[in-house]
Amino acid sequence: MANILFTNVRVIDGSGEPPFAGDVLIQGNRISRMTRGTRSAPMTGVTVIDGAGATLMPGMVEAHTHFAWNNAATLDAIQVMPTEEHVLWTAGVAKTYLDHGWTSCVGAATAKPRLDVVVRNAINEGLIPGPRYLAASQEITVAGAFGDDIPVHMPYPEFSFGQVVSGPEEMRKCVRMFLKYGVDSIKLNLSGDNFVAGADAHTTWMSDEEVAMAVREAKLRGKRVAVHARSCASIKQAIRHGCEVIYHASYTDEEALDLLEANKDKLFVAPGLSVIVKLLFEGEKWGIPRQKAIQMGYEDELAAVEKSLRAMHKRGVRVLPGGDYGFAWAPHGENAMDLQYLVKYAGMTPMEALVSATKHGGAIMKRGEELGQIKEGYLADLLLVDGDPLADLSILLDRRKLLGIMKDGIFHKEPELRASRNRWSLPAA
Ligand SMILES: [Zn+2]
Repeated sequence: MANILFTNVRVIDGSGEPPFAGDVLIQGNRISRMTRGTRSAPMTGVTVIDGAGATLMPGMVEAHTHFAWNNAATLDAIQVMPTEEHVLWTAGVAKTYLDHGWTSCVGAATAKPRLDVVVRNAINEGLIPGPRYLAASQEITVAGAFGDDIPVHMPYPEFSFGQVVSGPEEMRKCVRMFLKYGVDSIKLNLSGDNFVAGADAHTTWMSDEEVAMAVREAKLRGKRVAVHARSCASIKQAIRHGCEVIYHASYTDEEALDLLEANKDKLFVAPGLSVIVKLLFEGEKWGIPRQKAIQMGYEDELAAVEKSLRAMHKRGVRVLPGGDYGFAWAPHGENAMDLQYLVKYAGMTPMEALVSATKHGGAIMKRGEELGQIKEGYLADLLLVDGDPLADLSILLDRRKLLGIMKDGIFHKEPELRASRNRWSLPAA
């Protein structure tokens, strides 16, 4: 690992403080020194990268990823992918996230029992490129609910998208299986979803006994529980039982908002807006004309989630980008759209959206004291960006604007364009 000095950069440190001009020195895999204003004197043994005014910001954190989703338009189409192809696909998607500036990702659910774990381990062993990753279980659900894809005429559970359990003992067995495989989090589908006829977003499915068992078993092993919770009752249920990651959180009332606020230091919300927004406004392309999308409840849900997110953000609840990408309408790699969604639908400023993707991202990775900000001693996960994301968040969607991508002190993408003119080092003494 080389020592690298980023000089002549505009630093957005991820804390929410205003940007400043300065230098940032990386030694090994950590940020060892920051200098404001003045340019550092040349040092031996340090490669200098002259950013020529480009923005240096922390690598982004995606709070709701599904590496195993294969950009299909249905859950079935994800599920039928044969295992061998599916492993390669999932590994490829991991690289895609890093290519787009996401240096950490939180797995939200996977499609085969060990898929996420195997890919996380391969990344950690250096076998494949990918972000820091927290591996998820499959979705655990109950009969008839979202994620129960076992056809009535073909009852082979191994082909189910989710794992279907009934009662606390089956839940215990299922959770323990995933913990044995080595997941970082357990995913429960507490509510329905407008995607599924007969189990829409207002419905709530799991018994308190089942949720309590899942949380108890996960916490025994130091792991956490993430939930698919669109209905108001499911959000309250999640908080009552101590689930720490709440996905979607569409429908709230005063009681739900009070609960969220009272527990705001313990939990994270990632709304995953892409499904609703894309199907409502562009669904035609995937066979869901606007009228049908409205009928499915997406217009109603978007209005509700906007109201909920604005209220949560005002109350200081951490709302993170995390978008359910990996479907036909929102393929992997377009995840930075979420930053614009957070401004538009959650009422964030561009700076607040960046803080969500960086500082709060470090916290959801369980490493808030060393990840997600440009601070001395923090891990060197960094993006060198051509332009000012605060003036235009959409530049983070453009891979060409990501001049440099560094994870753990090592360039995944080296700032090539500037290499000849702006990259130099003094010979070692
Ligand atoms: Zn999801």
